[in-house]
Amino acid sequence: MSKLSQISESDESQDDRAITAVDYLNEQAELEREARQLMPYEPEVCTYSMGALRQPLFACLTCLRTNSNQPNGICYACSIQCHSTHELVELFTKRDFTCDCGTTRMKSNGCCKLRLRQLSKEKLIDMKRLSADNPDQGDDIPSLSNSYNQNFKGAFCDCSKPYNPMDDSNMFQCQFGAVCGEEWFHEECIIGVRPGVINRRKPTKDKAHGENKLDNLSEPGLDASADNVAKSNLNIDESSDDEDEVLPLPGFPKLETFETIICWKCTEKYRKEFECLCDALGYDKVYNIRADSLEARNTLLKREDSKKRLSEENYPFTIFLKDTFKKDIAKLLKDNSEDKQYQGLIKLMKSHSFMFEADPIYQPPDDPESDDNSSIFELGMKSLNRMPVESALGGIEAYEQIKNKLTEFFKPFAQENRVVTKEEVVEFFEREKENAASRNQS
Ligand SMILES: [Zn+2]
Ligand SMILES: [Zn+2]
Ligand SMILES: [Zn+2]
Ligand SMILES: [Zn+2]
Ligand SMILES: [Zn+2]
Repeated sequence: MSKLSQISESDESQDDRAITAVDYLNEQAELEREARQLMPYEPEVCTYSMGALRQPLFACLTCLRTNSNQPNGICYACSIQCHSTHELVELFTKRDFTCDCGTTRMKSNGCCKLRLRQLSKEKLIDMKRLSADNPDQGDDIPSLSNSYNQNFKGAFCDCSKPYNPMDDSNMFQCQFGAVCGEEWFHEECIIGVRPGVINRRKPTKDKAHGENKLDNLSEPGLDASADNVAKSNLNIDESSDDEDEVLPLPGFPKLETFETIICWKCTEKYRKEFECLCDALGYDKVYNIRADSLEARNTLLKREDSKKRLSEENYPFTIFLKDTFKKDIAKLLKDNSEDKQYQGLIKLMKSHSFMFEADPIYQPPDDPESDDNSSIFELGMKSLNRMPVESALGGIEAYEQIKNKLTEFFKPFAQENRVVTKEEVVEFFEREKENAASRNQS
């Protein structure tokens, strides 16, 4: 608890102490990264030797730059242990991917430390000799089946923007992925209008709730963007009203009516098959109609309608899969196995069996370390891992939220000059978990 008491013992002004809490968390994360490098514990298994897996991936932009712009994807363990000081982009999960750490795609970073350690443990190599005789490290063969899209350079969606968890627009990952590389798409980009074109905030109701505008001003010294983040996170609480709520996107299916999507780039390549699928299952589809505004898009749609020609012949479409989609597709294939008009679809689905069969994500083995030795940050991260996450881009968004909520949590302690106990932190996370669970149920 020594680090924590530093916060409460500091006798700076209140605003400065609020910043201290943010700094504390950042500093703590940095310290732990360093600690992991020096004395690594789980996760300590690189997934390279397991071959192509569906797993959480990271792209290392530092290694991208130092390897003639050759994109790479690394496993979770390597992101922590081999590239901890590098600039990483979280890619969430992708299928059929083999870790690139220590392969010839990223020679500049040398061998994968985790695999080297494993080999030396198994006495297959002599570490000392290796470094002396073989300065040319990082020679493992990269998998030929890895497929790289723009995500590996830090760009996402049709609009090729970096991912920003604070955007008003939700993003969805394409379930099919054969054409787009399991790309993520903004709601707006799915319908064909760029994010930001449509204002998705409610007009500010002046004093509608007897609200004091001064309450919304940033505190002096607190980073404005971090402050906004903290405020929008506070809004998640039941107690707050919907001032900052993002409005649903017109023309986009309600978020609770579907689980995932097949993007318009993927359906376009197999148009007949996916039209067949969508018609048979009665799932929603939305046309991708590039336009500068929602009005312009609607005009284009109406023009199509008036010609009595359904727009589907002219525009690509995204399919919205319900949460029962695997069962639904499996049944469809079974019930129509003899039907001629389904043969194309059946063939396509069978060559992408994850569309109707289980498709588990590789999970790194659990950290065996006992809770007693865990730092406050780890306690948080552990609780976070167990927390039901509702958002599409669960990981990083939840991380940002929890970081900001923690910051909010710290503020009163800093202001009242009190020491935070571990129990209070655990309680905080328990409460967050319950909140998240009850949000998921509603
Ligand atoms: Zn790895
Ligand atoms: Zn790297
Ligand atoms: Zn590695
Ligand atoms: Zn986009
Ligand atoms: Zn796709």
